[in-house]
Amino acid sequence: MTPTAAHLASIRTPLLGWYDRNKRDLPWRRTKDPYAIWLSEVMLQQTQVSTVIPYWERFLARFPTVLALASAPLDDVLAGWKGLGYYSRARNLHRAAQEIVSRFGGKLPSSAEDLLSLPGFGRYTSGAVASIAFGEEAPLVDGNVARVFSRLFEVEGPPGDREREATLWELATLLVKGERPGDFNQSLMEHGATTCRPENPLCLLCPVRDACGAFRAGRVDELPPAKVRATPKKLTLALAVWSHADTLLFARRADSGLFGGLWELPAAEVDEDATPEETTLRLTAALGAGVRLESQLGTVKRQLTHRDLTLRLYRVSGPQRPSRSESFQELRWCTPTEAAALGMSTAMQRALEAAMTALA
Ligand code: SF4
Repeated sequence: MTPTAAHLASIRTPLLGWYDRNKRDLPWRRTKDPYAIWLSEVMLQQTQVSTVIPYWERFLARFPTVLALASAPLDDVLAGWKGLGYYSRARNLHRAAQEIVSRFGGKLPSSAEDLLSLPGFGRYTSGAVASIAFGEEAPLVDGNVARVFSRLFEVEGPPGDREREATLWELATLLVKGERPGDFNQSLMEHGATTCRPENPLCLLCPVRDACGAFRAGRVDELPPAKVRATPKKLTLALAVWSHADTLLFARRADSGLFGGLWELPAAEVDEDATPEETTLRLTAALGAGVRLESQLGTVKRQLTHRDLTLRLYRVSGPQRPSRSESFQELRWCTPTEAAALGMSTAMQRALEAAMTALA
């Protein structure tokens, strides 16, 4: 059922007014620079606001313009992203900056349609940047907006359901039309983040309670239905701690896949119950050089969104020190201090710290 113009207005007007009075003072809301706004949107995708703020400030200081980002080596960009996780965001950001320079003269295109053609720009990011930075009536739906709409309009179906997604985008397209589309989109997200929260929404303080279908029907607790979460897959990696003089061997992973493009103590996937012989074979194959397991130095466990990660650290040696391998983009012997400047995931960082403690 398509909502009437009056129903839409009964949501749009109070929500904008509420946003003007209650919006959080966030640094990217004080700038008009499309690049800085885009960066905030990318960082906020899988990371909380309070974590993002210092990263956003540091990243902007290091890469202040699209051109500066496009001209920087990928390694520097990944190093600037260190600690934020989901490194594909940084790789896409870098590739998109290069395309913005080559295809759009270094200026972000202003329409959601053009933005959508850039690496890493999905419907959400394109809508966010086009509406917030350029004032286009471009819709967006993120997790917060989806929850708000499913309650306001009693949209049925679990998260991820195709029909439900289509309905949510149609509603977003209808609602964003009007004054200040960027502020309106932000008001929806802010409302979802602070008032129409996943648990215990603050309905009594809600500026659009009178227009809310779920509130009227007493269904706030039912909508949206909980997402069925897949159990994270177990992944065990054997890490080679190969020391020579005051250096250790580091490897840079292929660009795609888990930790793509990042540096690590060279790792090979092993079965959970792998024997030392099997582990030796895997590490030998990964490094393309004979490896001898000297001792196990410890284990680091990390819970990622889709992976239950176990990193087993092995002190290794071998007759010939490898300098290249087909499994990795690059191998490098460097000191742990030099390695600190390389882009490394938090999991690998922890593993390196554990290895250094065990070797000390
Ligand atoms: Fe969300 Fe409650 Fe407001 Fe409905 S009344 S929009 S459920 S906070």
